[in-house]
Amino acid sequence: MTAQPSIVAFLAAVTAALGKAAVDTDAAELAAIGRHTLPVADLPPPAVLYPSSTADVETIVKLANEHHVPLFPISGGQNIGMGSKAPMAEGQVVVALGRHMNKVTEINEELGYAEIEPGVSFNAMYEELERRGSSLMMSPTAGPPDGSLLGNALDKGGGAGPLGSHFDNVCGMEIVLGNGDVIRTGDGALDTNDHPNWHVTKYTFGPALDGLFTQSNYGIVTRIGMWMMQRPPHIEMFFFTFPDDEDLAEIINLIRPLKAANVVSTMIRATNDIYLLSSQEQHPRQETGGFRAPLTDDERAALRTKHGVGSWTVSGALYGASAEAVALTLERVKKHFLASGKARYISAEEAQPRAIFQAAINSNSGRPAGGELNMLNWRPGLGAIWMTPGAPMSGAMINDFQRNCRVIAAEFGLEYVASFVCGARFARGIHAILYDRNNADETARADLCYRKMAAVFMDKGVFVGRSPTAYQSFHQDRRSREIVKACDAIKQALDPNNIIAPGRYGIGA
Ligand SMILES: Cc1cc2nc3c(=O)[nH]c(=O)nc-3n(C[C@H](O)[C@H](O)[C@H](O)COP(=O)(O)OP(=O)(O)OC[C@H]3O[C@@H](n4cnc5c(N)ncnc54)[C@H](O)[C@@H]3O)c2cc1C
Repeated sequence: MTAQPSIVAFLAAVTAALGKAAVDTDAAELAAIGRHTLPVADLPPPAVLYPSSTADVETIVKLANEHHVPLFPISGGQNIGMGSKAPMAEGQVVVALGRHMNKVTEINEELGYAEIEPGVSFNAMYEELERRGSSLMMSPTAGPPDGSLLGNALDKGGGAGPLGSHFDNVCGMEIVLGNGDVIRTGDGALDTNDHPNWHVTKYTFGPALDGLFTQSNYGIVTRIGMWMMQRPPHIEMFFFTFPDDEDLAEIINLIRPLKAANVVSTMIRATNDIYLLSSQEQHPRQETGGFRAPLTDDERAALRTKHGVGSWTVSGALYGASAEAVALTLERVKKHFLASGKARYISAEEAQPRAIFQAAINSNSGRPAGGELNMLNWRPGLGAIWMTPGAPMSGAMINDFQRNCRVIAAEFGLEYVASFVCGARFARGIHAILYDRNNADETARADLCYRKMAAVFMDKGVFVGRSPTAYQSFHQDRRSREIVKACDAIKQALDPNNIIAPGRYGIGA
């Protein structure tokens, strides 16, 4: 029989070990932590804990094992559209690492990496690099600037620039496992005081364990190495607009060779009209309480004209020593897109003063700015669900997905909001389902919309790259029995009492 959790005894033990300030049970604070944007009820935790060190986290995990109390770790807690700060289920105590564990413990200018604690936000890292006059540049997201570099990378988040796949650039971790053991991966595991290889190579002795701690619940990560690039002296943004929804097939096929030949080193984004417009405008029919029909094609076209964007807008950047140094490549990129006969080029000078292009300009320049956050106000009620299926860089396949998902969004009375972040082989498809969370009917439709869109992808063998907490079991249930069994076996080995975030990504539910 599983032992019953004893929250009261657990919190008393944590208070005795770490002091009163490390434990918060204030009802208003817990309500704020439990609030999120998904179409399920808020989930206030019974308490929130604020550790100050890896040793504190170790103490918390050991006491949680003793008292059989489940924990839910957050770093920046800015996972908006994916669960925000709220735990997986009732009864899980939130461990908020970001408040005190927020140090940049090293920046290595020469080798191009930083060692960071969970609370280092995109904003804080940017400011630290500026303060030091660093030659390094990070890859921020276009999302919340207060998001954590570590939390974002662990959830396989993505950003701009050549280092946009954030987990690819994590090297070497420190983790408190669910059983309370503290481990360091890679050459950080050597029993010495110096670990010069820890954050510079993944090709070390033994299995590469870092990946185990992404989108899982096997431990609490307390430190990582994160690679950064040398800031280029010149950054030349480029934009192209395409007029029609169906142009996406051609766009994807145009982007693929530019990425495959590394003509453009940054990720290249193809973003649809409402994705860009929703951070500048509110839905024209903001009335609450009744059915709010999605925008008509004419309304969309009028807004596109007002803001000078296309049905799709392509964005990317060229990095080089000077404007002259990138000029030939820019000409090549322009010729490549304009040959289609449908594209319109928007130069860096033309884009610079326009608010709608700032998210792309800032993120490709290593600056967190959060301009996209306004999209949460597109409809009242702040409802947002991210659906993030990736797909091979096949124009026909990705266009098929957009056509089907557009019909599904309309079927549920919502707008189709999507952006594809493209590499040479693979595009992350970022879909935002924006809805009125104060309206029960619209909330129910948003939920059905997510499930139906996700099914379109899953039925073609295309899975989500990241999932909102409310849908993690729904997705895990579509995976093979054997992989689920393997995930659960690892859970059993590293966290035998199922202490860390039970149910996260469908593991240990
Ligand atoms: C308008 C908008 C735009 C967005 N744009 C982007 C974007 O461009 N790219 C992108 O990637 N995301 C984007 N997001 C999604 C999200 O807001 C970001 O990914 C954000 O960085 C996640 O929050 P965080 O970094 O504070 O991580 P957290 O909220 O701290 O953590 C994320 C997840 O990882 C787990 N976790 C956190 N820390 C630990 C730890 N130390 N040990 C073990 N597990 C841990 C948590 O349980 C949580 O589920 C966007 C969101 C919005 C609303």
